Amino acid sequence: MRIDIITVLPELLVSPFSASILKRAQDKNLAEIYVHQLRDYSTHKQKSVDDYAFGGGAGMVLSIEPIDRCISDLKSQRQYDEVIYMSPDGQKLDQGLCNSLSLKKNIIIIAGHYKGIDERVREHLINREISIGDYVLSGGELPAAILVDAVIRLLPGVLNDETSALSDSFQDQMLAPPVYTRPASYKGWAVPEILRSGDLKSIEQWRLEKSLERTKERRPDLYKKYSS
Ligand code: SAH
Repeated sequence: MRIDIITVLPELLVSPFSASILKRAQDKNLAEIYVHQLRDYSTHKQKSVDDYAFGGGAGMVLSIEPIDRCISDLKSQRQYDEVIYMSPDGQKLDQGLCNSLSLKKNIIIIAGHYKGIDERVREHLINREISIGDYVLSGGELPAAILVDAVIRLLPGVLNDETSALSDSFQDQMLAPPVYTRPASYKGWAVPEILRSGDLKSIEQWRLEKSLERTKERRPDLYKKYSS
């Protein structure tokens, strides 16, 4: 899978992709992540990529031209399945969306900044808008990093234990059961006996029960979907 991210602040995207699982995915050639400096596509001497909003008001707006030039340049080299704009008013990111994006081959992600981007980008140059939640960040870089992390860890071969992503929360509409590690007792707080029994069938049953219990208690909305 190839992901191209367009941003005015590429430096914000260095560390998320240079450690742990996302680094390993790239080292194993399971994912390619490219970060493009939008200013490189500006035709202005000062490399500016934003301007005042028509009609007035506070805050600068990212211009359409450099974004169009960057997208066109990328599209001239390969086909893209998705051109996504990260936006607080977009479709809310969830596991189902991550699952479906993980099946794509080439994706472009645009990180907005300042007051946002020229609406014509949203009308004509992209095909999806994704929000990471009902709060506003100062730029789309961290949301883009979150999206990329959530998608890349689903690619086959990225996680060491192939089944690991499948047993995480939100797959099957359920929250994950509690997990424990050694010591078996700490300050008198003991790990549930069944997990140490070696009886795999009972352990699986216990985990399912805990998953259901937790989902019912914390996310009745998900529980309803699961049980219907
Ligand atoms: N004026 C806009 C917010 C701009 S915030 C509004 O009120 O909707 C600047 C940029 O940060 C946005 O262009 C977007 O790319 C990014 N951003 C901020 N919050 C986000 C969120 N919850 N999800 C995804 N992207 C977000």
